Amino acid sequence: RKLGVALVGLGSYSTYQLAPALEMTKHCYLAGIVTGTPSKAQVWQKKYGIPDANIYNYENFKNIADNPDIDVVYVVLPNSMHAEFSVKAAYAGKHVWCEKPMALNVQECEEIIEACALNRVKLCIGYRMQHEPNTRQIREFVRNDNYGSLQVIDASAGYFDGRSGHWRLDKSMGGGAMYDMGVYPINNARFISGQEPVSVMAYKSAFRPNKFHEVDETMNFILEFPNGLMANCATSLGINYNRFFLTCSRGHIRLEPFQFYRGLKGSTSDGVQFRDQVQSQQAFQMDHDAMAILENRPVMVPGEEGLKDIKVVEAAFQSAEKGIRVKI
Ligand code: NAD
Repeated sequence: RKLGVALVGLGSYSTYQLAPALEMTKHCYLAGIVTGTPSKAQVWQKKYGIPDANIYNYENFKNIADNPDIDVVYVVLPNSMHAEFSVKAAYAGKHVWCEKPMALNVQECEEIIEACALNRVKLCIGYRMQHEPNTRQIREFVRNDNYGSLQVIDASAGYFDGRSGHWRLDKSMGGGAMYDMGVYPINNARFISGQEPVSVMAYKSAFRPNKFHEVDETMNFILEFPNGLMANCATSLGINYNRFFLTCSRGHIRLEPFQFYRGLKGSTSDGVQFRDQVQSQQAFQMDHDAMAILENRPVMVPGEEGLKDIKVVEAAFQSAEKGIRVKI
């Protein structure tokens, strides 16, 4: 059986990545949509053959509880709306897939985790890189000390965002570089090292302070791990960079870009090459998550993964604000 997925929020990620990926998945399919824009509903309905009964808006969303076609609700809304819709989906008895960043703060993350536990539905966070085979192989290299002990992580993820009037510039919507791209260095550093950071020191800067007066344009931050490992991280909505570099005691590992949808590229100091291994990272992720539900197994990227990253994000904001190192 294939699971029916309803996408909530039909913006660019749903339109250009998730919906096409759902046509490639083996274990789930696009069964429904939730949108505030009736004209979008018409276009999607035609393109993907979605029945009238499986189209919802934000007001009648809770009626999705009565729809047996929908097994999973995938929340792909602006960051400030993740908690509200993930909690509502859980109470509607649907499994929840929630995009990164999980939510705006630790409390919201805990509310989502609790709602999913109470309603006995599974919760997956959309960290596609944890499913991605090159990233997983690098994690194995580190686990097995193939290049000696891991000494330093350098990780940067950003892009130049020239848009104006977008929610990514709005603080109340969860805008800014840290929520958008900063969670990638954090999540990859935690995932690949297998360790949890104990403190963070963060700096905030902006080339366009007039545009980025509410939210962070650029953040540089150092994560300190218990055994002396440091991660030098950077994120920006003004700078194009996307690299992950591990310095180990007997060599190094590089992935650059490490987070793009396609075109991942990298190598190790002894010549191992990294290239794309899956046709669609999103299809790969959704099939893993669907299989975990169908076979009632633990999911690969549970809510706790989103929560742990948001703990770091909260501490980083506090650090940048106060100019001090903050314990996590
Ligand atoms: P987007 O701006 O393109 O889409 C957001 C959608 O939300 C739009 O359809 C918009 O109409 C709708 N919306 C509903 N209420 C809104 C409101 N009050 N204000 C603004 N928009 C509202 O954004 P996106 O790039 O599709 O990002 C959506 C989510 O997906 C974000 O949480 C983002 O972090 C995540 N995302 C994840 C990845 C990934 O690789 N995992 C990639 C891109 C985006």
